[in-house]
Amino acid sequence: MKEYQPKADCLVGKTILITGAGDGIGKTLALKCAEYGATVILLGKTVKKLEEVYDLIEQLGKQQASILPVDLQGATESHYADLADTIKREYGKLDALVHNAGQLGVLGPFGQIEKSTWDEVLQVNLTSQFMLTKALLPVLSLAENASTIFTTSGVGNQGRAYWGAYSVSKFATEGMMQTLADEYENSTQRFNAINPGATRTKMRASAFPAEDVSLLKGAEDIMPTYLYLLSDDSLEVNGQRLNAQ
Ligand code: NAP
Repeated sequence: MKEYQPKADCLVGKTILITGAGDGIGKTLALKCAEYGATVILLGKTVKKLEEVYDLIEQLGKQQASILPVDLQGATESHYADLADTIKREYGKLDALVHNAGQLGVLGPFGQIEKSTWDEVLQVNLTSQFMLTKALLPVLSLAENASTIFTTSGVGNQGRAYWGAYSVSKFATEGMMQTLADEYENSTQRFNAINPGATRTKMRASAFPAEDVSLLKGAEDIMPTYLYLLSDDSLEVNGQRLNAQ
């Protein structure tokens, strides 16, 4: 799907929620979705970053975006229920949900993982996705076809020393995706995961501070796989793990 060539109007009429839309891959994806015609709901922690993305979308002259400030660390089921009600009221349906926000935690020996770090990483990378998906399933079911994308990693199906809680959170993310894909097999909803591969962002820099970033792909380079799963060209694709590189 790295070679996928999206049609200019492939996301027209679609409302797409992206978590972690203020920075890194999520920011690039939000702008790309707007460029291809979607109405984008920008969810993230830092309002200032979300406002910047909102303004960039305004400058594109595309569908107006909206901002949902949510700290996935602290949000509760009732926050997600309110959020789902708001989306249903404002847009009538949700065509796509992209679970992109993530936290690396602290890389290091398993025996030294702090319980607090474990809890934080699992809360942001896993439990919040469970609560957000659960709240939004009814709103996704109102779309003609709905695509939910989870974000995995190279350590999401192959464990690696020192990647502790982050790796475990991505394995579980893939498990959640597969469970939902099987459960909704005969429905209008599909669930898949993308492994972005090494991509030049702040998270990558904190995991590999010494590497030569000029050798890395930028977020722009991995967009075709996202656009493919968001567009109706992937209606038959369900339960898959796609590598964006
Ligand atoms: P990034 O640049 O660090 O961006 C992470 C995003 O997640 C930010 O927008 C951040 O918002 C948001 N976020 C973090 N904690 C949050 C919280 N508690 N509540 C709400 N939002 C929160 O990382 P990235 O590289 O773009 O990563 C995006 C996804 O790709 C992640 O799931 C990551 O695991 C995955 N991934 C990345 C790579 C890579 O090489 N970059 C490789 C494999 C997988 P704030 O800025 O407001 O904190």
